[in-house]
Amino acid sequence: MKIYNTLSKKKEEFIPIEPGKVKMYVCGPTVYNLIHIGNARPMIVFDTVRRYMEYKGYEVNFVSNFTDVDDKIIKKAIEEGVEASVISERYIAECKKDMEAMNVKPATTHPLATNEICGMVEMIEKLVEKGHAYKAADGTVYFRTRSFQEYGKLSHKNLEDLQGGNRSLLVSGEDQKEDALDFVLWKPKKEGEPYWESPWCQGRPGWHIECSVMSKRYLGDEIDIHAGGEDLVFPHHENEIAQSEAANGKTFARYWMHNAFLNIENRKMSKSAGNFFTVRDISEKYDLQILRFFMLSAHYRSPLNFSGELMEAAKNGYERIVTSVTNLNYLLGRAAAGELSREEKELLQEAEGFVKKFDEAMDDDFNTADGISAIFELVKFANTHAGESSSIAFLTALKEEILQLADICGLIVEKAEEILEDEVEKLILERQEARKAKNFARADEIRDELLQKGILLEDTREGVKWKRA
Ligand code: AMP
Ligand code: ZN
Repeated sequence: MKIYNTLSKKKEEFIPIEPGKVKMYVCGPTVYNLIHIGNARPMIVFDTVRRYMEYKGYEVNFVSNFTDVDDKIIKKAIEEGVEASVISERYIAECKKDMEAMNVKPATTHPLATNEICGMVEMIEKLVEKGHAYKAADGTVYFRTRSFQEYGKLSHKNLEDLQGGNRSLLVSGEDQKEDALDFVLWKPKKEGEPYWESPWCQGRPGWHIECSVMSKRYLGDEIDIHAGGEDLVFPHHENEIAQSEAANGKTFARYWMHNAFLNIENRKMSKSAGNFFTVRDISEKYDLQILRFFMLSAHYRSPLNFSGELMEAAKNGYERIVTSVTNLNYLLGRAAAGELSREEKELLQEAEGFVKKFDEAMDDDFNTADGISAIFELVKFANTHAGESSSIAFLTALKEEILQLADICGLIVEKAEEILEDEVEKLILERQEARKAKNFARADEIRDELLQKGILLEDTREGVKWKRA
């Protein structure tokens, strides 16, 4: 399995630190609003990476944080006249609902920044002790960027260029820094803001330190994969590396994965630019499985433009898979039990080829676009070769293959069969006839069949009543 590593700018063979195990950290959202579909891209992409690794037999320890203390959360809390935690708790709950609706699995651990302040203070103390950080006169603690020799290795920037680019910082009020490149680890409280005690001043942590600390606490000093959107490469991930490696003296993460942006008219979707749709907005028009399909129809390192037309194309693509599975289920309901014929055995071997194609695409830096093409080929093959005379074993094998590949992509493609009222009434009548004729086996069979379709029967004095389970 090959992964493109932002650190080396190359695809590299994936070799886990511990055989059979993957330690993975994905930077999560800042929770001050409903998430937009740009935020959903890393969620869907890295959930798919996790699912593929699990399918390959790895045990994945997947950690993703919620940033629950930040200027924007505090601003919103002041506007609403509530505590910051009221805002963050509300939007964490909403975010979890959106994740579930997009079939994004909950992380093994979802740590909250505000629960980890102790660990942050500890790491900052260690950095001060080692000379990598210092306290300015107003109590702010800065990371001494030039003290970390390898600063810039992830974003491939050199310090001199950064120095030029950051000159404006010197006049932005942060003039207590020793150097324009230094960044905040701890800052003094402001009136009306949440704060914590620390050896330097009452205050709160800078943003970058939280991920270094949570990653260490839940996954250890060295992890396999660290991931997020490409806007996080610099400065967030660069700063995380500096903090973690300076404090722990070990390589922080082996593989750095970054998804490209979800754009609208070639501009990054973002809350600040106001060009965004929330996941909730999209759910009013589309099944979120279609949004998931849309995200995976491009490679995660390619920019993706959001448009109504592409969503319609995604809808058609997704429905093509759903229809094929529905058709297989229909045939399964009518097929006779029986062994696989010789021809069917050969066909199944051929079908294996599409699974192999899917695996090859995913092994090549999680190329979900090609993976989905392989699913389409399998679907076309199933539509061509499954028929009224197919055996149950053959139909089941094809269906299971489609479901497995779709499940790796996190796509739910088997819909609970919708049974219409007329059909229920007809079956109830048939059951009553069967009972009258003392054919209790058939009567029970009908009850079970209805139960499977989510219909509960109740025999009452006034006759049979039914409801949907
Ligand atoms: P934020 O809440 O802004 O910190 O973002 C949470 C995650 O969403 C980060 O991994 C960001 O890189 C990612 N993200 C934000 N906007 C976009 C976008 N338009 N396209 C892709 N990823 C994004
Ligand atoms: Zn982070």
